Amino acid sequence: MAVEYRDGLISGCHICQNISLLQLCSRCRAVQYCSNEHQIRDFQSHKTRCKAIKCSLDELNSAQQRIRSYPGDDYWSGRVAGPRLDCMRKRLALVDALGLIKTRDSVHTQLHHLQGNIRLGSTSEGERVPFLLLRLDEDQDAYDFIKWWTARTAQPDERYLDVQDADAFEAPDFLLKEESFSPSALSATLLIKIKMLQDLEALEASIALIGPKVPQEILDNIQVNVLRSPIIRSRILLSRTSSNGGETMRNAVEELQSQIHRISVFISDIDWIPADAREWAKRIWTLMPDTYDAWIEVPGSIETFKRLMGKDAEGRL
Ligand SMILES: [Zn+2]
Ligand SMILES: [Zn+2]
Repeated sequence: MAVEYRDGLISGCHICQNISLLQLCSRCRAVQYCSNEHQIRDFQSHKTRCKAIKCSLDELNSAQQRIRSYPGDDYWSGRVAGPRLDCMRKRLALVDALGLIKTRDSVHTQLHHLQGNIRLGSTSEGERVPFLLLRLDEDQDAYDFIKWWTARTAQPDERYLDVQDADAFEAPDFLLKEESFSPSALSATLLIKIKMLQDLEALEASIALIGPKVPQEILDNIQVNVLRSPIIRSRILLSRTSSNGGETMRNAVEELQSQIHRISVFISDIDWIPADAREWAKRIWTLMPDTYDAWIEVPGSIETFKRLMGKDAEGRL
C-alpha cells in the first residue's frame, strides 16, 4: 500500500473544495457539491461507489423494516436475534462501502452505524470507532471512548460505563498490559498523543523564533492555522493566563515524548509484531483501513512516530 499524504478529510465540494452552497449527493449522501456543474463533472468517477453505497443503504433499510415488524416485547427475545444479526451485518457492509469515500459526511455516517451496532451489543466495532473520531478531529471523544472500551473489556458488566473528559496527558499504563492487549487502542492512543506532541513542538518552535513575548494575535493565528489537536487547542486557551507557560510546555513535550516511547517499546516487545517500526505500522494499517486513513490524514505523524521509535528500532534490526 503506497503511503500518500493528505491534509485531512474533504469537507467541501468534492471537485473544488468550495464550502458554500453545498448540496449532498441525494443517492449516497456522502459527497457534496457546490453546483450541478461540479456534480456532473464528478459523475464518471463517483458513480460506481455511489451506486454501491445506495445498494447497501437500501439493503440495510429493508433489514431494519423487518426488525420493526416484530411486536415491541419481542425485540430482545431470541425471535429477533437472526434479523438483528442480519441488520448488523448490513450496517458493516454499508460502512465498508462508505469507507472508500474520504469525506467528513462519509466518516460521520460510518461512525453513526458502528455506534448503532455497539448499542445492539456487537463487540468488534469498538476497535474502529476511535479512528473515525480521530479523523473528525474529535480527539477528546476518541480518548474517552478508548478509556470506556478498555475498562469495559476488563469488566464486561459495566456496559454503560460513561467516561467524559479523561486526561489524555496521563501516563498510558492502563493500556500497557499484555493480558488486555489491544492493537487498535494502542495505535489510536499513539496517534492522539502524537497529534498533541506535534502541536506542542510547533508552538515551542514558533515561540523560540518570535521570542518569549508573543503578541496575542500571533498566538491566536497559530492556534487557528497550525494546531491540529483539539485537546491542545483547548489547553492553550485555558493556560493563557499562566505565567510559566514556557516551562510547562517543555515539561509537557518531554512527558509526551517519553509516553510515546514507552508505548512503542511495549508494542515492539510483543512477539507477533515486527521490531521494525515501519513493518509494524504497515501491519496495523493493513489489518484496519480506518487506522491507515487516520494516520495518513495527520501530516508528519508517521515521521514523528519513527523519529521517537528510531533508536530502538535500529537496535533490534
Ligand atoms: Zn465545486
Ligand atoms: Zn453519491
